[in-house]
Amino acid sequence: MLTLIFGLVLLISNTDSQTNNNDNNMKFELIKLPYATDALEPVISKQTIELHYGKHLQGYVNNLNNLIQGTEFENADLETTVKKSEGTVFNNAGQVLNHNLYFTQFSPDGGGQPSGKLAATIDAEWGSFENFKKEFESAGVSLFGAGWVWLAEDESGKLSIVKEANGGNPLTKGLKPVLGFDVWEHAYYLDYQNRRADHLKELWKIIDWKVVEQRY
Ligand code: MN
Repeated sequence: MLTLIFGLVLLISNTDSQTNNNDNNMKFELIKLPYATDALEPVISKQTIELHYGKHLQGYVNNLNNLIQGTEFENADLETTVKKSEGTVFNNAGQVLNHNLYFTQFSPDGGGQPSGKLAATIDAEWGSFENFKKEFESAGVSLFGAGWVWLAEDESGKLSIVKEANGGNPLTKGLKPVLGFDVWEHAYYLDYQNRRADHLKELWKIIDWKVVEQRY
């Protein structure tokens, strides 16, 4: 009986210390998806979401939480960390921010066109929404290697298409990211293999323009 009680106490105190350790390591957490993992099919398959969100993004979050311990970024927010860090901290912080923006801009009910101020600014800059999409896709296709293509806003509200290598984000250029397409192969290879252009063209069908308009 005493052994049993002692065992229970040990079990409880172990659970406690594990929880505490996790709390200390879990400054940044994996964002929640606003849809089911199969909800974006056939544009993005369940398997791609499970790997891209569940493994790649979780990996970036874990790496970042480990890397910032004991550094000046230990208590910094994500955007500050992206703006001020370099090397592996920047790579992982950038990828956490990039993917948070990426995964939350989709909806199974997405597609169509932007409206309001965003639509007007896109028309003014690119002539039409159709032409903007063409330019955006072309930027994504011509980006060599891994990276991101962004629609970004400057302080005056002017929009531009910005290509970033690896984990780059327009924040480091003083711009605000509004919409981002991930052109790393892990984002599309299972579903589209080498056909990056086809993947980018399909993504418009799941863009939640309400979310993008709120960022602008
Ligand atoms: Mn990715």
